[in-house]
Order: sequence, then C-alpha cells, then structure tokens
Amino acid sequence: MTGEITTLPDIDPLLLRILPNPRPGTPPPSSKLVFGKTFTDHMLTVRWTSAGGWEAPVIGPYAPLSLEPSAVVLHYANALFEGLKAYRSNTGRITLFRPDMNMSRMNRTAERIALPTFSGPALIELISELVRLDASWIPQEPGHSLYVRPTLIGTQNALGVGPSTSALLFVICSPVGPYYKGGFKPIALLATTKHVRAAPGGIGSYKLAANYAPGIIPQLEAAMEGYAQNLWLWGPEHFLTEVGTMNLFVVLRREDGATELVTPPLNDIILPGVTRDSVLSLARSHSSTPLPGLPENFIVSERAITMPELVSASKAGRLLEVFGAGTAAIVCPVDRIGYLGEDIIVPTGERGMGPVSEVMYREIVGRQTGVIPSDWAWVV
Ligand code: PMP
Repeated sequence: MTGEITTLPDIDPLLLRILPNPRPGTPPPSSKLVFGKTFTDHMLTVRWTSAGGWEAPVIGPYAPLSLEPSAVVLHYANALFEGLKAYRSNTGRITLFRPDMNMSRMNRTAERIALPTFSGPALIELISELVRLDASWIPQEPGHSLYVRPTLIGTQNALGVGPSTSALLFVICSPVGPYYKGGFKPIALLATTKHVRAAPGGIGSYKLAANYAPGIIPQLEAAMEGYAQNLWLWGPEHFLTEVGTMNLFVVLRREDGATELVTPPLNDIILPGVTRDSVLSLARSHSSTPLPGLPENFIVSERAITMPELVSASKAGRLLEVFGAGTAAIVCPVDRIGYLGEDIIVPTGERGMGPVSEVMYREIVGRQTGVIPSDWAWVV
C-alpha cells in the first residue's frame, strides 16, 4: 500500500526469552567486593536493526560479546551507558532508585549519536526481571547494592562514519560495597586549568562513553599532585562545572546571613545527574517540609559560580561546604581544592561531612533503602 506509515517494533518485555546460566557462580564475600570487578550470572541483550526495529529481548548467561573488528563502536565510539543501583531493604524488598530518570537520559544520549531510542518502561521491566533473577547477588549488608550498567553500542560493520544500521543494548550487573567503609572520607580536588571536560556546544551533558576515557590522564595528573579528583572548570572566568564524574554543590553563607546551596545550572557542559536532581528536590522541599539539620534561612540556587567567587567566599569565612553528588558515593565531601598553586581549605565538620551534605546523604539513603517511604524507590 502506498503512503502507509509503519512503525518498527519497540522493546517488548512480553517477547523475553530467559536462558538460565547452567554454571551459576558464587558471590564473593561482601568484604572482598571491589567496584565493578564482579559480575552476576546473567545479562540482558536486545538487538536492533534499522530495517526491523528492536528484536526479542534475551536474558542469558553473562558471556563475551562477539563483534567484528569493523564494528563502528570500535572505531567511532558509538557507545553510551547508564549507571543505577538496586538496593535490598531490611525487609528483603528490592528496589531501583529513580530508574525512569536513567531511561530518559539514556534515550536523550542515544538520540545525540543516532542510536535507536526505546520505551523506558519496557527496559525498566526487563532490568527488574534481570535483577530478580540475580537477586542472590545483591549483598545483604547495609550500604551494599547491585550496580546496574545498561549500555548501548552501534554494531554495524562499516568504516564509513554515519548512523549505525544495527545496535546492541545490553545490561550487566555488579555487586558493590559501600563507598564509605568506616566513616566519611573527604577528598581533595585539583581545579584544573589545563584540561576541560566539556565545552559549550559539545557532548558533556550526555552520558556518552567518549566523555570518559579523556578524563583518565587529567585524573592521574591530579593524583600525582596529591589530589583525588579533578574539579572541572570552564572558560576564562573559571566557572565551576563538575567534580570527577559527579555533579558539584557548594554551600555558602551569603552576606545577608542566609545559607545558599549552589549548583551550576543544567546546560551543555553539565551532566543532568539523578543524584543532583534528588539533592535539589530535597533541598527545595525544605521550605514546605523542613528537613532536620538544614538551617531555616536556606536558599537553593542553580546558578553559575566561579573560582574567584569561591576564593573570596573562603577568604571571608563564608565557604561552608563543597561536595560532589553521584550514584556511586551519593554525596562526596571535599576538604581541599588546589587552584593556581594554592590550596583552598573547605570545612568538613567533625564527622568528615558538612551539615548540608550529611542531611542529603541521610535523606537519599533513607529513600534508597526503604527507611523513608518514597516514590523514588521502584520495587522490582
Ligand atoms: N557527572 C558525570 C560526568 C557523571 O558521569 C555522573 C555519573 N553518572 C554524574 C555527574 C552523576 O550522575 P548520577 O547522579 O546520575 O549518577
């Protein structure tokens, strides 16, 4: 028929085939877990072609992928990923934290590099199935979780640069221990003026694989100088952007006495983090439902902030806290920032975490583990 519009199939959880792993492994003792080094028995794969759309999803044994050396992903980095966690509550309930946000970020990123988009709810259903199947791999101990890594790659065998006509979406899972073992450990940052993570008009707001390998040398350089992570700056004004692979928050005492929580606004040099959004939502809810531990006169600002502003706040004794926010650590306090050859000392409080970051940590962990009821926790 002429003029007929056909839509290609989306991901369909009803077509799922499960091939159980005939040789299931044994989860290592939780105390031995190193981030991202252990993988569960199963993985989810869903293939796509431009001619036929998304194929039937398969959950099968965790196993090597087979790719031809001409696959576009190996040449042009047609690759993107997500990171979210499944938590087991003390009642045995397993939840994912705000997976809808990861799905929309993943689709947004896929569009940016001409990889196929898909139904977010369908992928959440499949991830839930995978997590249920590998539930014995979710460590029981407090602070432990199952890190879930959805990935999408272009698989067309072709050396021309163009939209990939085939793609593979896969999801693997890794049991992880707590980021903080025995108390919070603030980190030192090097505010780097030598490298940039992202530039206006670039790809920094997308979770593209291509954004990560170039950060390795700057991180090693920071480590050589005794700093744990880079504080990424932008422009001659030295705007603060992100911390390593986390979003950035600064707490200032304003001249009028109010406490201000500042984070750079979302634009093309900031990744829209799920934790960032959670911190902002909680901080904003304080005006209607006070959160114990936060000051009464509390202002939340998504605004640009520069290193000269940070230096002058520090000199005036008005710099109260700096922290990173991301899925891995939730919040990560900062105690020192190296900038143009000098160190800015940042207060961190007696327990290694300032009052605002401590409240955010408590409120977010509470929602992840089910201690605080919340629609951010999605039961699998
Ligand atoms: N910025 C970058 C560059 C990141 O890689 C991440 C981790 N995904 C974040 C911020 C924090 O995002 P989220 O809170 O969604 O983990």
